[in-house]
Amino acid sequence: MTVPLIYFDNNATTRVAPQVREAMQPFLLDEYANPSSIYSFAHFAQDALLAAHEQAAELLGAKPGEIIMTSCGTESDSTAIYSALESRPEKKTFITTPVEHSAVLAVAGRLTERGYRVVYLNVDSGGQIDLEELEALLSEDTALVSIMFANNETGVLYPIAEAGALCRERGVLFHTDAVQAVGKVAINLAALPVDYLSLSGHKLHAPKGVGALYARQGVPFVPFMLGGHQEYNRRAGTQAVPMIVALGKACELARQKFSDENPKVQRLRDCLQSGLLEAIPDARVLGDAEKRLPNTLNMAFKGVYSEDALLMLDKYGICASAGSACIADIHEPSHVLKAMRVSPEFAGGAVRFSLSGYNTQEEVDFVLEKLPGIIRQLRSHGPDADW
Ligand SMILES: *Cc1c(COP(=O)(O)O)cnc(C)c1O
Repeated sequence: MTVPLIYFDNNATTRVAPQVREAMQPFLLDEYANPSSIYSFAHFAQDALLAAHEQAAELLGAKPGEIIMTSCGTESDSTAIYSALESRPEKKTFITTPVEHSAVLAVAGRLTERGYRVVYLNVDSGGQIDLEELEALLSEDTALVSIMFANNETGVLYPIAEAGALCRERGVLFHTDAVQAVGKVAINLAALPVDYLSLSGHKLHAPKGVGALYARQGVPFVPFMLGGHQEYNRRAGTQAVPMIVALGKACELARQKFSDENPKVQRLRDCLQSGLLEAIPDARVLGDAEKRLPNTLNMAFKGVYSEDALLMLDKYGICASAGSACIADIHEPSHVLKAMRVSPEFAGGAVRFSLSGYNTQEEVDFVLEKLPGIIRQLRSHGPDADW
């Protein structure tokens, strides 16, 4: 028997929207010109690239020339951080948080090896940072501060406007990894003191393998990829036209659907949350429940291993996550939950549900029907081997 797929793992990746697939199709077929070529055949691809920059810029309140198309969110993060630091070679301090995605944390680790002073802000039990701590840490030696817009595991939203303003007052460059926030919360870079912002296509209903970096007009920029003159000399390499067109379309859709879809997704998420809290004793929501993405619910079940719950959910076709796909088969609380000092008996049993506009009330009801029994079973006799 095949079970229908119930996909509640949209912070790991999202399905490609049909309109996105349709928009990119011509560039996989007849419109294969290199957009850097001079002949008329290339004009359609050139126009499509321009349109994609405009669509991304419009979603973010930016200018098209401030958008650099990249291969993924990870490349955008690396580019922003190395670019900022290379442009301030005399400054050796980098400030970030312990709850960043590995795309930032791994770069921070590399920087430590290379003699940088990397400072991690503290987070409280809700995963929140303290702006006063940030303010006290900023110094003449600070080159860059990088704070994520929203956390991928808990959905916690960070005070980006305030943190950016503190940095700007002191001439410190400011980057935010907004991969999880774009399309889910309003972002208007025209009014936000942010110098660099990363996003990724596949978290936004475009395919995997495309991202973008916003670099504010006039901020220092040192390319990460060297070679040709693509992307206004800021990212060499022949543009992945179909993927970039897809990202542009996904940004346009996100903007059109923004005010209908996010409240709907939040209602579903809240229904899931209250239903689970009601039906399952010793369960709690991880992360600041108020300052949170509308689509994310990270819930911990005392005395249960996340992986066991996930495998049993999988029998019903329900896809959820232990917090971060990168640590999916280790019995170790994630770095985010560790930084929040979630007690081990809860942290070991964290299950993240992340929704999208494609989810339905019926799917939420199905999880509410199945999960309480699963948790009861795991608590009374552990995972059932031949389920
Ligand atoms: C997924 C994700 C990334 C990485 O994006 P890729 O396009 O997969 O490289 C970076 N930061 C956050 C917060 C993410 O959720």
